Amino acid sequence: FILSLTVGAGLAGSEVAWQIASRGHQVIIHEMKKIKKSPVHKSDKFAELVCSNSLKSFELKNAEGLLKAEMNILGSLILSCAEKTRVPAGKALAVDRERFSDCITEKLIQNENVSVAEEEVYWPSEQGIWVIATGPTTDGPLAEWISKMTGGMFNFFDAVAPILSADSIDMSICYVGDRYGVGTGDYINCPMDKEEYEAFWNALVNAEVIEMEDFDRKLLFERCQPIEEIARSGKDAMRYGPLRPVGLNDPRTGKEPYAVVQLRKENLEGTMYNIVGFQTRLKWGEQKRIIQMIPGLQNAEVLRYGVMHRNSYIDSPKVLDRFLRLKSMPNVFFAGQITGVEGYVESAMTGLYVGLNVARLLDGKELVELPSNTMCGALINYITTASELKPMYANFGLLHAGKNREKVALEAIETMKKFRISI
Ligand code: FAD
Repeated sequence: FILSLTVGAGLAGSEVAWQIASRGHQVIIHEMKKIKKSPVHKSDKFAELVCSNSLKSFELKNAEGLLKAEMNILGSLILSCAEKTRVPAGKALAVDRERFSDCITEKLIQNENVSVAEEEVYWPSEQGIWVIATGPTTDGPLAEWISKMTGGMFNFFDAVAPILSADSIDMSICYVGDRYGVGTGDYINCPMDKEEYEAFWNALVNAEVIEMEDFDRKLLFERCQPIEEIARSGKDAMRYGPLRPVGLNDPRTGKEPYAVVQLRKENLEGTMYNIVGFQTRLKWGEQKRIIQMIPGLQNAEVLRYGVMHRNSYIDSPKVLDRFLRLKSMPNVFFAGQITGVEGYVESAMTGLYVGLNVARLLDGKELVELPSNTMCGALINYITTASELKPMYANFGLLHAGKNREKVALEAIETMKKFRISI
């Protein structure tokens, strides 16, 4: 009898534990939240979404959609709970974050093979099979141990967006609508004219930010750039980025505004909205002042302010084998963002992969690799073989799809179905 132990019940750790437990093996989840929380985690529940409530696109022609379709074939817990707790968000799979976490927490604690140890793990032992899924904010003694075992961790920075109270949004100025009218009216739009946009831009580039130890602009993650950094890159950058007005005609004028700030539903009841693309490290007073400059948000109540954090990950190609197992200590696997993937679903996918292989190990079976012509397999392949690992999210470049995305996606789905039957 070999014990399996998962450290961290985030997106990856929850998926690891589920894959092991649902194959009939005991798993102990070590989760420290009840005694110690990282700077980004706020709740005691598992699989907390620390920033956006969107798990991105579910469309097959989108790389994120393909990733999800493949993970559904493999029986992902995260995605089944996302489906159950979905909130309308056009072509994105967005969830009510509280219900999503509740669903995952309940599924795991109600499983007879799962036990939970509410403690901080300092390092894994030589006994049992360990999975380290402690996420990008791993710190303390465990981070020191990981650094020692892996020759030091890499870092990058990203930020989260503020959340507003819905009843503080002035709907006599804002309007409901999705780009090009496609969707079910899941977004609220705050229209800006040229003058308002320029005043907003000016305020952003001159606002005070929270200083961070060791902050390095070069280490900002490109897909989660703070809005003030986007603004600094050029006066029109926001209008061609998160504030692009295309397809968002204002019903009162019938015209496209100069720029549009979009708000996305945070929960099913629609009582909270986040500001799309407004991740920031501005000082909180500055955030409030600048948010209230947005037309329709002049009385906005900020329920949660945006913040910036350091993300750490390991040099997976050097230190892990293709099953995400530490070469120097093969009873230790890694999963989640710490392996060099980027994103909620990508993190969960690595957990799914590791979980199914730990279960095979416990069954005395050979470990399996995910097919390389699938999005899941291609991502694992990248993080374990890249010559210089940079945080990676699902994209068709990994599959060398060129313009044949649809064909490549359909082939990937077929391959994953066959793989599922074969294991
Ligand atoms: P986490 O979900 O962070 O889970 C790690 C778990 O391990 C936590 O529950 C923690 O309490 C526990 N833990 C840590 N150390 C220990 C220990 N020593 N002992 C016991 N338990 C421990 N991705 C997106 O797709 N969209 C976003 O909007 C987004 N925003 C982000 C914003 C920020 C500020 C950060 C840091 C990341 C963001 N990400 C986002 C990236 C990434 O998808 C998330 O960080 C994701 O939660 C990673 O999943 P994970 O399972 O690897 O780690």
